[in-house]
Amino acid sequence: MAANSAALALEDVPSVDLMTELLRRMKCSSKPDKRLILIGPPGSGKGTQSPIIKDDYCLCHLATGDMLRAAVAAKTPLGVKAKEAMDKGELVSDDLVVGIIDEAMKKPSCQKGFILDGFPRTVVQAQKLDEVLEKQGVRVDKVLNFAIDDAILEERITGRWIHPSSGRSYHTKFAPPKTPGVDDVTGEPLIQRKDDTVAVLKSRLEAFHRQTEPVIDYYAKKGIVANLHAEKAPKEVTSEVQKVLSS
Ligand code: AMP
Repeated sequence: MAANSAALALEDVPSVDLMTELLRRMKCSSKPDKRLILIGPPGSGKGTQSPIIKDDYCLCHLATGDMLRAAVAAKTPLGVKAKEAMDKGELVSDDLVVGIIDEAMKKPSCQKGFILDGFPRTVVQAQKLDEVLEKQGVRVDKVLNFAIDDAILEERITGRWIHPSSGRSYHTKFAPPKTPGVDDVTGEPLIQRKDDTVAVLKSRLEAFHRQTEPVIDYYAKKGIVANLHAEKAPKEVTSEVQKVLSS
């Protein structure tokens, strides 16, 4: 019964979409598996580079912030628990985020590996991730450290506009959409995140320095950290990322 309804659903998919997906899967079959972590403060460019890396290497992009915001918007029990900390720019509990990542990594789109964006953010999360991966007989290949000075981040964050369903981000000054407030690709409205304010950025940066920077040391000891010059223009950062990932 389930197979039948799946077949019916496929019949309704336009041929061009099926062909595009088929070509994508053929291209992906020759790519090496990769398990990547992107670490950096808010506004350091993780969300800008992730879709590019995802397409290049056929990985899934798992951003805990996006997942938590979706849960808050849908008012799920998880969202209700996470909302207060998120509004204040503090971290939500390790157990909550480890649970959602563990579940999300089971998606078929993660078959060739993943990009973790915004996770792990504490050493405890990194240790729990290692345990999860060890059970699967795999490990993290590379940690990309988006190194950048705090002083640059305020302007990047306060001018940021996001297309929630794709994760595409724009900036009023550095990367404006063709029409203000509208996504270039879908024509859907863009939003500004509730925590992208000067006041909340302050606590988010504090959380980053106190709780997340030690995670960089945790992976540096394993010899898998690559430092990027995240203050550079997005295209230059993309070149640095490509160099690191092809070596
Ligand atoms: P982001 O979109 O990555 O900036 O995340 C937005 C907010 O979600 C953060 O300020 C935290 O409150 C929460 N959050 C996202 N990822 C994590 C994580 N790995 N651990 C704890 N809290 C998280």
